[in-house]
Amino acid sequence: MADCIFCKIINREIPGNIVFETDDVIAFEDAHPNAPVHYLVVPKKHITCMNDINEEDIELMGKIQLAIKEVAKITGISESGYRVITNCGDDGGQMVKHIHYHVLGGKHLGCKIVHE
Ligand code: AMP
Ligand code: ZN
Repeated sequence: MADCIFCKIINREIPGNIVFETDDVIAFEDAHPNAPVHYLVVPKKHITCMNDINEEDIELMGKIQLAIKEVAKITGISESGYRVITNCGDDGGQMVKHIHYHVLGGKHLGCKIVHE
């Protein structure tokens, strides 16, 4: 999609610190990390958010799970642990309208998922 910042990273139109890539999925460092380790796992297919996933995307969603596992390994947080978050829509705090999965770790993230 023309105006999408993540499509631009996927198409190498803007730079990204890419750590993992397959035919279907890419992972790169978050530009404004919220944890010592913060990567984004993104399908190459432009899907806006969770609301737009269809039956035809089921295999892709599985590939994303495997990519998340690989990114955790590559970035050294597999054993120490990590959190995976996807934001959808305004109340979910979604800024970039191309579905993505935050992989956060490198410190104990606490037990509260939502911080006021
Ligand atoms: P979200 O609020 O879930 O849509 O998260 C979007 C994330 O994308 C934020 O954590 C941003 O820091 C990150 N981000 C925005 N632009 C870039 C970029 N060009 N490269 C890497 N990360 C980015
Ligand atoms: Zn996109």
